[in-house]
Amino acid sequence: ERRSRVRNFSIIAHIDHGKSTLADRLIQSTGLITEREMQEQVLDNMDLERERGITIKLQTTRLIYKAKDGKEYILNLIDTPGHVDFNYEVSRSLAACEGAILVVDAAQGVEAQTLANVYLALEQNLEILPVINKIDLPSARPEEVKKEVEDVIGLDCSDAPMISAKEGLNIEDVLEDIVKNVPAPKGDNSDPLRALVFDSYYDTYKGVIADVRVMDGHIRKGTEIEMMATGKKFEVTEVGIFSPGMVPIDQLNAGDVGYVSASIKNVKDARVGDTITEAKNKADEALPGYKKVTPMVYCGIYPAEGEDYNNVRDALEKLQVNDAALAFEAETSVALGFGFRCGFLGLLHLEIIQERLEREFDLNIVTTAPSVIYKVAKTNGEFFEIQNPTNMPDPQEIEYMEEPIVEASIMTPTDYVGPVMELCQGRRAEFKNMEYLEETRVVMHYDIPLNEVIYDFFDALKSKTKGYASFDYELKGYKRSELVKLDILINKELVDAFSIIAHEDKAYERGRMITEKLKDVIPRHMFAVPIQASIGNKVIARETIRALRKDVLSKCYGGDISRKKKLLEKQKEGKKRMRQVGSVEVPQDAFLAVLKFE
Ligand code: GDP
Ligand code: MG
Repeated sequence: ERRSRVRNFSIIAHIDHGKSTLADRLIQSTGLITEREMQEQVLDNMDLERERGITIKLQTTRLIYKAKDGKEYILNLIDTPGHVDFNYEVSRSLAACEGAILVVDAAQGVEAQTLANVYLALEQNLEILPVINKIDLPSARPEEVKKEVEDVIGLDCSDAPMISAKEGLNIEDVLEDIVKNVPAPKGDNSDPLRALVFDSYYDTYKGVIADVRVMDGHIRKGTEIEMMATGKKFEVTEVGIFSPGMVPIDQLNAGDVGYVSASIKNVKDARVGDTITEAKNKADEALPGYKKVTPMVYCGIYPAEGEDYNNVRDALEKLQVNDAALAFEAETSVALGFGFRCGFLGLLHLEIIQERLEREFDLNIVTTAPSVIYKVAKTNGEFFEIQNPTNMPDPQEIEYMEEPIVEASIMTPTDYVGPVMELCQGRRAEFKNMEYLEETRVVMHYDIPLNEVIYDFFDALKSKTKGYASFDYELKGYKRSELVKLDILINKELVDAFSIIAHEDKAYERGRMITEKLKDVIPRHMFAVPIQASIGNKVIARETIRALRKDVLSKCYGGDISRKKKLLEKQKEGKKRMRQVGSVEVPQDAFLAVLKFE
């Protein structure tokens, strides 16, 4: 029967180990796409993903493979993201699969996210198939890396395919491995329908689309479905598969991966993690949802000068639909007016949302300093969380505060143990222990305040280890900490959007750095602009931007009209990305730029 020839799988890997390249190669070698059409990686199809070379949104495709046993198999490949910020998306893809290919770079070996992804796959009870990639590299040491995978992860590698995804070497071994070792899906077409929504989005032509894995029963055009989380009912208008691109088919059966479009108007009604059932023949129980994701980093997002608040809200709503980790609510700022407090998984997630708002939705926005969630115990017995530094009570009212701590594991060649320790010490990290993975590689465990991780820790780690270290972290809990609110005053006015919460030992340094940075990024005005950092009423750092002497136009002696025009235009251009704060114009990106120190 057909189901015995279906294989649902994902590819997991540490970033850059070749997951996307292998995915492309699998697509190509099953004849779906010719070499010429293959110029760019097929699965990473968001502009941003191509530029950054990382996968953010998952993509699905269906391959037909004629195996050595002479039978045709249907291979549903679900791509997964590779960055630490996006682990939640990995677990979403994995929940739709029976197996996962674990790609390990033959030169790099096991890295932090190799392990993190293996844990996610194990949580979903997947069959994990190790594949050693990049054997074409002169620095490849496939046998050693196989042994490392066996020792560190505990997976048998005796039959692991050794491939070069780039050169297309031994790709068939991977396909055969999938056919032989990924279990066929179980489930019964005649049971009540249960389909897991693992992605959903708005398609310009078809409206709201839910990507689903059918676990039990079947679904087809005309089926009246019910969303088990909300109880809302819709009629299915189309079902189909990814081939790649949406291809309508008659029916999706138990075990299948595909898409469903129905009379769903609002993307919110096709929530990722929800179970679709049939309204007239309901399943008793919903499928287990995904690992719940909670934002760890918050910042304000405000419409820039002349941008409409409603446009920003609409865009955030659209993005939120297929990004379960993005949270937002309305807030107001004295400096920036009406906007939103948004929650993210980490800084990369924040930057990506920011860029998507600007590019895909063509919006001009201002992003304020990111902050983690602090807990405050007041002397009057109240205990609450704050996501916005502005909400920190007066120091006299605070009994104590707590900040989030993460358990971090850093894998690095032994040569860089010193620099890593130095970096971690500077970030208030507490050393736990160090284990040897091999003679020349260790994993170091630290407890680090999340607040120290979100300020470019990742970049600093990469630069201190020439890119050789890898990093993964998980929230551990909260810990009491001596924290203060650091305010920034521009031209004597407190700009709430610049306020941050910092550890008291770091506040002076941070205050000094922010004022110095602002002095560089804020253009000169007709008047002198003092920039101050303060804790309470005490000014701890001060810079002054000197006044501009000459008018831009005074050089033009009135005569040359076109030159004058050009200058004015140029000035306007420069202004577009400015934000008026009191009487001072602040560049839009200053709010985030001040936080990048090293
Ligand atoms: P991902 O982050 O895991 O998706 O990795 P990519 O597929 O984007 O690959 C990262 C880099 O490694 C790219 O520059 C690829 O061209 C390169 N790469 C992938 N597979 C191979 C391989 O088999 N051999 C070599 N030499 N390079 C490879
Ligand atoms: Mg990729």
